[in-house]
Parts: sequence; structure tokens; C-alpha cells
Amino acid sequence: MAKSFDVVVIGAGPGGYIAAIRAAQLGLTVACVDEWKTGDGKPAPGGTCTNVGCIPSKALLQSSENFEHAGHGFAEHGIVVKDLALDLGQMLKRKDKVVRQNNDGILYLFKKNKITFFHGRASFAGSNTDGYQLEVAGKAAESLTARHVVVATGSVPRPLPGAAFDGKLILDNEGALALAEVPKRLGVIGAGVIGLEMGSVWRRLGSEVRILEALPALLGAADDDVAKEAAKVFARQGLTIELGVKISKVTAKKNVTVEYADSQGKGQSVTFDRLIVAIGRIPNTNGLNPEAVGLKLDERGFVAVDDECRTNLPNVWAVGDVVRGPMLAHKAEEEGVAVAQRIVGQYGHVDFNTVPWVIYTSPEIAWVGKTERELKAEGVEVRAGSFPFLANGRARALGDTTGFVKMVAEAGTDRILGVHIVGPMASELIAEAVVAMEFGASAEDIALICHAHPSLSEAMKEAALAVDKRTLNL
Ligand SMILES: Cc1cc2nc3c(=O)[nH]c(=O)nc-3n(C[C@H](O)[C@H](O)[C@H](O)COP(=O)(O)OP(=O)(O)OC[C@H]3O[C@@H](n4cnc5c(N)ncnc54)[C@H](O)[C@@H]3O)c2cc1C
Repeated sequence: MAKSFDVVVIGAGPGGYIAAIRAAQLGLTVACVDEWKTGDGKPAPGGTCTNVGCIPSKALLQSSENFEHAGHGFAEHGIVVKDLALDLGQMLKRKDKVVRQNNDGILYLFKKNKITFFHGRASFAGSNTDGYQLEVAGKAAESLTARHVVVATGSVPRPLPGAAFDGKLILDNEGALALAEVPKRLGVIGAGVIGLEMGSVWRRLGSEVRILEALPALLGAADDDVAKEAAKVFARQGLTIELGVKISKVTAKKNVTVEYADSQGKGQSVTFDRLIVAIGRIPNTNGLNPEAVGLKLDERGFVAVDDECRTNLPNVWAVGDVVRGPMLAHKAEEEGVAVAQRIVGQYGHVDFNTVPWVIYTSPEIAWVGKTERELKAEGVEVRAGSFPFLANGRARALGDTTGFVKMVAEAGTDRILGVHIVGPMASELIAEAVVAMEFGASAEDIALICHAHPSLSEAMKEAALAVDKRTLNL
């Protein structure tokens, strides 16, 4: 007999597991189904983010940064490291341990919130007056009935036409996070967030990295000054980035040869030991069987939803990477919470204007809101102010004075419309800007707030002062 729930969430990534927790907090009976498994077949909830995305990439970024600091940065602090060696096996083991801790944490949260977890693949089977019927295929097959269904099935990497992922020479993000040895020559196709982060990890560990990008500009969505600064620093670090390329052929035998036309249209051929393809991700509805209930997908394969994550079917919702909008874990989480609240008739708050973007390279890059260029193109009159970390005491003490904070405010009202950071701990600093924008703060508001000294956050205050051309430390 089918087991019945108020809500069945399909997928336990950040969109799904957070939706399940919030729905349970609101007093609903909730089940969550997820098919991800560890190497030995155990459940591994957390989705792409926990298993092969945000968490393992940040673990390796930290480890590789530590290695680079030990090799190149410690001497300046008077710390002499002799016989520095890389134990890549241990580095990967630590990364796997961090992932397991997060998987276990989610299983604990399911228990704590009395959420029934099913390990397997869920697919729609039909619907009737009781709700939607779902079949779970896994070790133990189950039939479920749900009054509400939340589809949170995420995304999968987009392959390069003519160069299928093989897990050995041509790698997706999963392969890029598990290389058993440091490749001498590493190619990366795509200079987006994933390409830049993965390229940084392996460059720090010793690879010669060349990133090939089809677009004519680096970090096209970022502020122009930020993109310029990042390009300068990446080049200094030895990360080769070629823009405006057109890949014509990829041949994988003993190694991988990529043939392409460069930005001048001249034919090039380059051979790598490994190739990471990071050209974006596509929505994942594999095995979901949306046809069984008439769930509508859009022309690009995303589950079609309105602004409130409602699909074309009553009581079927969809959140996260499988729907429109930025493919970010925190966007998925916000949608998950909002949907759970809408199910019980409460208000669901998601503000797409204040979703922060972060790239965890070194220097880190983070922004929220619009760029100066975008605003000007919209005809908005703005005032912008920047403050370099070079003039920040804490950054000097840290030994990392790269980059700056830039604030863009509306000229007439002084309301903050965008904040753009390239530099140390940008991922943490951006939170202040997000709060400020959510509360409709002006640049002057930030300039009037007492910031701890010495702290990197003083650069935020100084950027706010710079909007009014009255920095104190520059
Ligand atoms: C290398 C990399 C680094 C990233 N770094 C960041 C970062 O630093 N910050 C950030 O915000 N975002 C980052 N992302 C993006 C982030 O991982 C995604 O935006 C996020 O995971 C989306 O969450 P989701 O819940 O929508 O889907 P997912 O996390 O993809 O989870 C979907 C889950 O559903 C399961 N599933 C799918 N179909 C079914 C089915 N039919 N039945 C049962 N289970 C099913 C899948 O197995 C999976 O567990 C990164 C991504 C990658 C690849």
C-alpha cells in the first residue's frame, strides 16, 4: 500500500532538503527522496552542492591555497618551510571526509525534523483525488502518495558536443575534484565560476593550466573594474586564459588534443594530459517521468514555473537548478523555504535582486546587485566609490592587499544598487552589502556605521565614503 504524505520532495540537494525541513517545521508530514549514493552504495543526501559542487570544491580550494601559501607565502612571515611535499591522497581524503560530514549532517536533520527519507529514484506515476502517485525505485521499492510535490532534481554538467565525458581524460566537475595525480598540462574549457575555481586548485598544486573561453571577455557578468583586476592577478599567478576561442575538435587517446580557432581566427592545436569541461549545466529531469502527470518543461528542459515556483500542475512546485534563475545553492535554499511556506498559505520571500554571487578564486570575487555598466545602460544616474585593500590595515597585516571594494549608488537618492568586491574574504564581506540592499540602505548609512578596526570590512565603509568622495584612509 502507498505511503501518504502532505509533501514529498524529490531531491535532497540544497533546494530539496531545505524545503523538506521548513515544511516539517510547519507541521506537515514530509518525505524526501534522493538517489545519490556513496561509492559503497550508501545514501549521500546534499545533491551536487554537497557531493561534487560547493563543498568539495571549497575543501580543495582551501587545501591547495594552504599548499601555495606554505610554498610561496610563509617565507615573508618569517616561517621557513623545508622539504614541502604534496600528499594528494590525504588532501582528497580530507575533502571526502568533509563531504561525508555534510551528508551525515543532512541525515541527522531529517531525523530531527521527523522527515521520512527514501533512498532511490522517484518518478511520477499518476494523480487522482488523493494527490500525486510516485514510485521510488531503489533497494526497497516504494509507492508514495503526496498532496504536494516539490521537484528539486537539480542539474547535470553540459557536455561539449563531440567530446563526451569519459571520467579519465575528459572530465566534468566530479572528475575534476577527484584527480588521483596532478596533471602536468591541464586544459579547462570554460572560464566561468567552475572553470576558474577548478583551474585555480590544480594550478596551485603544480599543473600548467590553460583555460579556453568562447566569450570575448572574462567574467562578463562582473563589474568591469573587478573583471580587469581579476584578469591581471590570474595572469600574474600563471593561469593562462584565452578568450574568444572557437573549439573545432577534441581528440582523446593517450592524452587530449584540442583544436580551436583563436580570437584572431587562427587555427591552434594544444595537447593536455587532462581536460576539464565546464561550459555550464543543464536541468536534470532524468527518470522523473513528467509525462505521466503532464508536468510542463520549457524549451530548454527546465521545469516551467512562475515567480512563486508553481508549475502548471496544482500543488506541484519546483525549486533550485531545475528551474529558471541562477544555478546557486543559496538561491535553491531560499526557493525551498518560500515554497514550504506557500504550501501552508504563508508568504514566501525570495529577492532575486539581492542574490549574492561569489567566485572562490584567489583573490575572491563577490558581488550583489547591478554593475555600474548595467545601470548606466538602463539610464540610471549613479555615483560609484572604490576603496583598495592596499590602504586597509587588516589586509596589510594579512599579507593580502589585492583588489578593492566598489559601491554603486543611485545619484539622487544615494540608495545602494550594487557592491562589487575583488580581494581577500570577499565571500564573507559581501554579506554586509546584501543586508544593506535588503534594507534599502544608502551609501551614507554604511558610511555612518562603526566598523571594527582593523578589519577588512572597513574597506566597505571606506567604499561607501568614496561614493561621496570623502575617504578617510586614502
Ligand atoms: C563544482 C561546482 C561548484 C559549485 N560551487 C558553488 C558555490 O560555491 N556556491 C553556490 O551557491 N553554488 C555552487 N554550485 C552550484 C550548486 O551546487 C547548485 O546550484 C545546487 O546544488 C543546486 O541545488 P538543487 O537542490 O537545485 O540541486 P542539486 O544539488 O543538484 O540536487 C539535486 C538532487 O536530486 C537528486 N535527484 C535528481 N533526480 C532525482 C529523482 N528522480 N529521484 C530522486 N532523486 C533525484 C540528485 O541525485 C541530487 O541529489 C557549484 C556547482 C558545481 C558543479
